Amino acid sequence: MEYGQDLQGDKISLLGYGCMRMPLTDKNAAHIDERAAFELWDYAYAHGVNYYDTAWPYHAGNSETVLGKWLKTIDRTTVKVATKMPLWEIKKSKDADHIFDRQLKKTGTDYFDFYLAHALDADKYKTMTDCGVYDFLKQKKERGSIKRLGFSFHGEQKTFDKLLANFEWDFVQIQLNYIDWDFQNSKYYYGELVRRDIPVVVMEPVRGGLLAAPCKESTEIFKAAAPDKSAASWAMRYVASLPGVMTILSGMSAQSQLQDNLTTFDNFSPLSESERAVVQDALGAYVKFSAVPCTGCRYCMDCPAGVDIPKCFELFNAHKLGEKSLKFSVNSLSAKEFPSSCTVCKKCLPKCPQSINIPSELKKMSDIIDIM
Ligand code: SF4
Ligand code: SF4
Repeated sequence: MEYGQDLQGDKISLLGYGCMRMPLTDKNAAHIDERAAFELWDYAYAHGVNYYDTAWPYHAGNSETVLGKWLKTIDRTTVKVATKMPLWEIKKSKDADHIFDRQLKKTGTDYFDFYLAHALDADKYKTMTDCGVYDFLKQKKERGSIKRLGFSFHGEQKTFDKLLANFEWDFVQIQLNYIDWDFQNSKYYYGELVRRDIPVVVMEPVRGGLLAAPCKESTEIFKAAAPDKSAASWAMRYVASLPGVMTILSGMSAQSQLQDNLTTFDNFSPLSESERAVVQDALGAYVKFSAVPCTGCRYCMDCPAGVDIPKCFELFNAHKLGEKSLKFSVNSLSAKEFPSSCTVCKKCLPKCPQSINIPSELKKMSDIIDIM
């Protein structure tokens, strides 16, 4: 297993385990299939993955709990555990204290190796400062229950700049992949962190699975360059080749994904100049097809009108990428989950970390279905 670049000298696996998409026993996101999850974590651990990233809302609160059960089966000191403060739950300063205590109990540990203010944007920045959450977390760090303090980011550039200018951080988690390098301004965020010697934790390296099968043309470009390598491995190598990256989080929900990633990181080689050109070609092909850049995170849910937003975009993208006919795809939605149920209330808009204009994209989808 390749190690990431850590200025403090810790050996942190370049592949980190994102615990937000674990296998389920049924359709309910809270129902993690614990046996299957333990098998995946055991296998990853045995192959050198030592960074496990969870959060308060993942799997409706059960990711932290189930990960905590698994931690009891191994030597806690051999892994790095990361979790996050859900700032949207904070109404007064005491809330942070309560949540932090609950997280320690749920994970059955007495410290977090990495702790993040979760999904910071302008609103959460305000909560963090108004409710004294940064000072609270800094105090936890001084007392040893947080080893390193960071934030994950889903906001605008000026909030990012304020975060770096006004507070001290040991690491920062940003969305980084070969599409977002330009489309989500990741190039700027990454550049600022490297310039300040702040270790980078990468989230969404394959954009919620999208870059595992970007589109037919992109996949063919990758296959022509390396027939035995997956499209996901190109996406992982793209971010892993960047200096200053400490670990790359992958939400591996199946053994095949884990195996593919382990193959990439066990025999890691950075992208060469000619391989970079291959990624650029594949990106060009993807942009031409311009699928909706939804990662399937479901932060936009629940929709008051009942639209299953991520499912709609998944089906729409599958159609645009040539996998399915749209008419066939929409048959798997119930009537109220259908894109045309959208009342344009816009409640989902501020919740989407990808800044997707959800009602507008749903309208485009409805229009295509109507003329079919
Ligand atoms: S804008 Fe449409 S999709 Fe978004 S929450 Fe409102 S009804 Fe649901
Ligand atoms: S529309 Fe946005 S918030 Fe909703 S699942 Fe997709 S990326 Fe996540």
